Amino acid sequence: MTNFEVRAYDAAGRLGELEVPRAGVTVQTPTILPVVNPHVQTVDPSALESEFGAEILITNSYILHGSEDLREPALERGLHDLLDFSGAIMTDSGSFQLAEYGDIDVTTEEILRFQYDIGSDIGTPVDIPTPPDVERERAESELATTQDRLGRAAEVDTGEMLVSAPVQGSTYPDLRERAARDATSTGLDVFPLGAVVPLMNEYRYADLADVVAACKRGLGETGPVHLFGAGHPMMFAMAAALGCDLFDSAAYALYARDDRYLTVRGTELLDDLEQFPCQCPICTDHTPAELRSMADETREDLLARHNLHVTYGEIRTVRQAIRSGNLMELVDSRARGHPTMLDGYRALLSHAEQLERTDPVSKDAFFYTSAESARRPEVLRHHERLDRFDLDADSVLLTEGGSNDRYDETWGVVPPFGPYPRDLAETYPLTAEVPDRTDRAAYEAAADGVARLVGLHPDVEFTLVHDDWPATALETVPDGVRLRDLHARD
Ligand SMILES: [Zn+2]
Repeated sequence: MTNFEVRAYDAAGRLGELEVPRAGVTVQTPTILPVVNPHVQTVDPSALESEFGAEILITNSYILHGSEDLREPALERGLHDLLDFSGAIMTDSGSFQLAEYGDIDVTTEEILRFQYDIGSDIGTPVDIPTPPDVERERAESELATTQDRLGRAAEVDTGEMLVSAPVQGSTYPDLRERAARDATSTGLDVFPLGAVVPLMNEYRYADLADVVAACKRGLGETGPVHLFGAGHPMMFAMAAALGCDLFDSAAYALYARDDRYLTVRGTELLDDLEQFPCQCPICTDHTPAELRSMADETREDLLARHNLHVTYGEIRTVRQAIRSGNLMELVDSRARGHPTMLDGYRALLSHAEQLERTDPVSKDAFFYTSAESARRPEVLRHHERLDRFDLDADSVLLTEGGSNDRYDETWGVVPPFGPYPRDLAETYPLTAEVPDRTDRAAYEAAADGVARLVGLHPDVEFTLVHDDWPATALETVPDGVRLRDLHARD
């Protein structure tokens, strides 16, 4: 896998460069592939490129293959000329139609050759999109078919065209993980996580986080990961933090058709808006009332453009957050948009160990912005590194206050990390900014750290001087530890 390079990490989020040799372009990731319907173009591909900076788009080769009007022009002129787009073009295979209608009339070999012949830059085999929650037997047997087709796809001579290897497995984490491992072993180039749209349509973001985390365990760090059908900007930060690099969206166009207005916090109906909560050119130049009074086609065009501005704006926000090392703060903030997003965020944090592996050791700042911050990868890492510190003393003071000579050694204590050798006080993440009126979760996480350190040194006598910790945190501190409140008189 030499066509994808990671430039920077934050949690499992990656800033990457995907080289697409057939298009002669390098695509910056994370990014979004607008879905372009070959028959109905809400926003022209050339405008996607010039106005929104699209470096890549996706269209459906199965529609072109079956189209009396477009099949021959696509073969003769090629996709880039047909669509008037000079960036990279990925093509889907008809798997979606297979899932919708139960049958399609091409094989993987045929559709890949067709994709190659029309000048696609990234082709896709015909996999079987197994929906969530099916019987395990079905998930396994359909996965076997998908794996067989990926194997055959890898045999087709597709020249410089990259080929994707979709990862299926329904909502079974072990099947997803295995499918992902098998997908990487094919040597194919891009890894779409398939059949996740039903989860997103039902706002099952916690299940989505678990599925993505399982796939990532199997994929490792090779190759770009495409969250297939994910087009709502409110979930880009979360999906990126789990390690997704590519999204694709028909939402900008489909939502516009129904007068739905995308925001990073969710979806609004044009009818419900008195003001536009957005600074894009469309929303700056018009009021909701003006849009409502326009002809259907004009309104749809303007709404689609707003939707694209928000979508690309959020992609840039995610990229900058990875660059700045504050992607988790962004996820935390986006998770407040909807209770199901908060479920997704909490599910993501249950994979903190997995995210920790690629999380940078040092960043500019750690902002403790919610109780969820206590479960971030940095807290877990700090607890794990307690194992590696030497503690050669009979009595140790763990304190939120100053040192005291009566003890052999004094360590600092800080929520949510817990105990730390004092010479590390100025290092990340112990430099975290935590609110003065912090929450129980921060104290409890600190107490977990104390318990871990005490457990590692059963012969040391520990005293903990804490600043008014709640009972739920103090309960976690092992029995032998002497407790004193920082402000109590002794
Ligand atoms: Zn706008």
